[in-house]
Amino acid sequence: MTPSTDYPNLLSPITLGSLTLRNRVVMGSMHTGLEDRRRDLPDLAAYFAERARGGVGLIITGGYAPNKRGWLKPLASEMTTRLQAMRHREVTSAVHEEGGAIALQVLHAGRYGYHPLSVSASSRKSPITPFRPSALTTRGVDRTATDFARSVALAVKAGYDAVEIMGSEGYLINQFLAARTNDRTDAWGGTAAKRMRFPVEVVRRARELVGDDLPIVYRISLLDLVEGGQTWAEVVELAGLLEAAGVTVLNTGIGWHEARVPTILTQVPRGAWRSATARLKGVVSVPVCASNRINTPELAEEILAAGEADLVSLARPLLADPEFVAKAAAGRADEINTCIACNQACLDHVFANRKASCLVNPRACRELTLTLGATRRVASVAVVGAGPAGLAAAVSAAERGFAVTLFERSMAIGGQFRLAMAVPGKEDFADTLRYYARRLEVLGVDVRLGVAASPDDLAAYDEVVVATGVVPRVPSFPGVDHPHVVSYADVLSGAVVPGRRVAVVGAGGIGVDVSVWLTHGPAEELDEWMSHWGVGDPSLHPGGLTERKPRTPLREVTLIQRKTTPIGIGLGKTSGWAHRAVLKQSGVVQVSGATYERIDDAGLHLSVDGVASVLDVDHIVLCAGQESVRGLYDELVAAGASAHLIGGADVATELDAKRAIEQGTRVAAAL
Ligand code: NAP
Ligand code: SF4
Repeated sequence: MTPSTDYPNLLSPITLGSLTLRNRVVMGSMHTGLEDRRRDLPDLAAYFAERARGGVGLIITGGYAPNKRGWLKPLASEMTTRLQAMRHREVTSAVHEEGGAIALQVLHAGRYGYHPLSVSASSRKSPITPFRPSALTTRGVDRTATDFARSVALAVKAGYDAVEIMGSEGYLINQFLAARTNDRTDAWGGTAAKRMRFPVEVVRRARELVGDDLPIVYRISLLDLVEGGQTWAEVVELAGLLEAAGVTVLNTGIGWHEARVPTILTQVPRGAWRSATARLKGVVSVPVCASNRINTPELAEEILAAGEADLVSLARPLLADPEFVAKAAAGRADEINTCIACNQACLDHVFANRKASCLVNPRACRELTLTLGATRRVASVAVVGAGPAGLAAAVSAAERGFAVTLFERSMAIGGQFRLAMAVPGKEDFADTLRYYARRLEVLGVDVRLGVAASPDDLAAYDEVVVATGVVPRVPSFPGVDHPHVVSYADVLSGAVVPGRRVAVVGAGGIGVDVSVWLTHGPAEELDEWMSHWGVGDPSLHPGGLTERKPRTPLREVTLIQRKTTPIGIGLGKTSGWAHRAVLKQSGVVQVSGATYERIDDAGLHLSVDGVASVLDVDHIVLCAGQESVRGLYDELVAAGASAHLIGGADVATELDAKRAIEQGTRVAAAL
């Protein structure tokens, strides 16, 4: 690969112990659900091989437990036997054949283990798991440190080029380090120095077992973001001890899983945590790796060029685009399918015990089954509608070699996604449209904007894909046509600027997004964002947590739904809590169990539990879901023509971009 002049630092090699990486891009560890069963090893190998082929410097696997007590869930991934190690050769060989390097991550879940065998430094239950862990005995701690070292040695037998010891995100090692979770009085707790013994012993024993050459990466928690977390002085002391014990690289970890500060969601400003890594780099002599919310080669290069880190770790961005590095190197960064940090198909799946994939790249983790091989037939394809489903279908069909025409009745591509990117904290969504626009251009798709295709326009095509999308649903209660009533599309597109007092009807994903839009100003500066979430200097505040500064909402918003469940309960597992917190921070009044009576000049009349009230508001914004736009499809069917119906035009209920993009990709794969 010839290094692109745009990213000289990112694409320069680095030597770590016996291993020279071809560039500074590390694919950070992320559990995909392919780690746990032997039968998934071919899928795992294909998933990593595709990333190695795409040029990434070092891949780090999801976490493998050093013993059964360290499982993430019952029968979860572990590296404890020679046989397991031998089986992993399928994975390591696949990566090596593509010229890549791969590290095994050893992770002991501690009290985050979702099973009754879990152990921790102390018997304190975590707020995010139902199982109370047993406190390890003094001998048990000792044995666990040895188990870590044995897993590291087995990783070498499996053909791994390096290992990563997971010391952050609130897992067992973190649980030993923080007073919050370690109230031991033996040699492994009681003082900060004793709490540090466990990770140091893990590294020391691993180094002793594998010798000097193997790169040992240690993921160190720089900001715990929980009460009772480590102080900066403790982090620095630990880093020094780890270096002395034989660590080769220090990777950055930010925030425990139970932290109530978002660290990787789309609303977190890009590069938010780079200063923490830079601060570590100033006090250690081993290379350090920056991570979390780095999703473009520009930002990665900027961090390296500024001397803030020696490597950058990107996990989800490599799920989104396996060719991230190759495209950057070839001067094609504008063709990178950027991770939008939504978590919808990756972490939300994993936390729901489903295999991970990616909203913007449904092929992720399905490399062997969802293939876009070159077509052998010469055929023309018309795609009608350039929302996420139509865009995915058009680009995927063109990638397969079909001659594709994309019709879009409006003057821009994007459909509902274009509205989503107007929401504060979802600015990254614009990158998905940049990606599609560029891919359409590169692939030579004939894009016809401002054209509402008719059956006659489509008659000449061999295949027709209808992705005509949705329209916002208009509920049927009296007064819904009052001039103060607008739709979410009017608001998010900027067509209407609502007044100071607003009622939002419907509290699904869009109702929540619109409430955020209504209460927030333009994108927050990093300092402002940190202060709203109470992130402070860890030298002054242990764990980096301080008092939250209240937000000043731009408008008074009441968010209403008919259901009696708490608002936002149906949002993503790993992001819903943060959206709900933002609503609270923004003073949004939440009303569940409402019956809409009518709208008139006095405002929105509703009743809750039989008690009637009227909301005196300037505007009522309807966020009551969507209905399919199917006129064209029905006409085609009536005329006896065949067509594929996808996206919101197919099923509008709870349509989201994940389903739309996957359906678009699958329809193209099956053409
Ligand atoms: P939605 O999730 O279906 O929510 C629409 C809400 O409107 C419903 O929860 C319903 O609540 C209410 N509603 C439905 N019919 C109504 C009627 N006739 N009168 C009054 N209220 C009515 O749809 P959405 O919010 O438009 O979102 C569309 C899709 O995008 C969803 O799949 C959503 O998950 C996705 N999305 C996700 C996110 C995210 O952050 N993950 C963000 C935005 C959008 P009640 O019946 O209880 O009133
Ligand atoms: Fe990124 Fe969303 Fe894909 Fe996860 S699902 S990798 S967060 S774009």
